[in-house]
Amino acid sequence: YQLSDANILVMRKLGEGSVGTVHKIEYRPKRKIMARKLMAVYPDATNHRQIMRELKLLKQCQSPYIVKYYGAYFSADDDGQSIAICMEYCEGGSLESVYKRVAKLNAHVGEGVLAKVALAVLNGLVHLHSYRVIHRDVKPSNILVTGRGEIKLCDFGVSGELVDSIAQTFVGTSYYMAPERIQGDRYAVQSDIWSLGLTLIEVSQNQFPFPPPGHPQLSVIELLEYIIHMPVPQMDPKRFSPECCDFVSRCLCKDPKDRPTPTALLDHPFIVKAASKKLDLKSWIERVWGVPSNKKP
Ligand code: ATP
Ligand code: MG
Repeated sequence: YQLSDANILVMRKLGEGSVGTVHKIEYRPKRKIMARKLMAVYPDATNHRQIMRELKLLKQCQSPYIVKYYGAYFSADDDGQSIAICMEYCEGGSLESVYKRVAKLNAHVGEGVLAKVALAVLNGLVHLHSYRVIHRDVKPSNILVTGRGEIKLCDFGVSGELVDSIAQTFVGTSYYMAPERIQGDRYAVQSDIWSLGLTLIEVSQNQFPFPPPGHPQLSVIELLEYIIHMPVPQMDPKRFSPECCDFVSRCLCKDPKDRPTPTALLDHPFIVKAASKKLDLKSWIERVWGVPSNKKP
């Protein structure tokens, strides 16, 4: 692909995050639909070359559990410089948009789907790890669902140079961070597993688990302190099987030494069962958004 503003037709905005804006676009020369994430970066040509070098790894990182990467380019306008990252458009939206939609329908995401989510995330993390990449930002908005019902990871930390050149003051504070990360320790694969545990609880109960329901509001610092010191949340044992509850409680071991790696968790009964079970996620995601409908996420 020869990606550039001139070759792209912007179709509509898909969403906005803390550092970027994502649009559905068409790559005109091939009439290919993609998603493009724009992030403001500091204007420094040396950095830009380094970022492009690091992003090349994404081309090799292909897997059924990772959102496809098509390429990136730098773009300049009156507001400064941005990097545009072009990736596979995922029609089913993010798990965050999915559970918010499900909540509006007065429903909950069930155990069968959650197990498939956990299976896909673990496979994605194992794949990334084989390239020595740690995701660093596992959360519902970074787990996407395709129109075919595939579940894929996006927005992982492949380029340290890119993280350093994002022109935003508040990058890096996330409530999905494992306790050891909040305390400033180095990242390990296990840190992503903590975030997976929180993600599963959030999606299952249609809200982020900290602070627990009924607890008074907390400031950012108080919430991070709370995550370090207070008891970890659990899956509701009335709604979920013992294997499912056990899986999540292992993800949420506070000490990273006690927390299993993605590879080890692939052998957990909850995951083994999910891997052997047939589930039509395409029909599921169509039901979530309502088909036929032009109000796709
Ligand atoms: P944060 O910036 O805090 O990490 P975020 O993940 O929501 O939050 P972005 O990564 O900028 O922020 O994404 C914004 C939204 O765009 C996502 O929540 C998701 O709904 C949508 N989105 C992102 N990538 C795609 C994609 N490839 N296909 C379809 N929708 C996407
Ligand atoms: Mg994101």
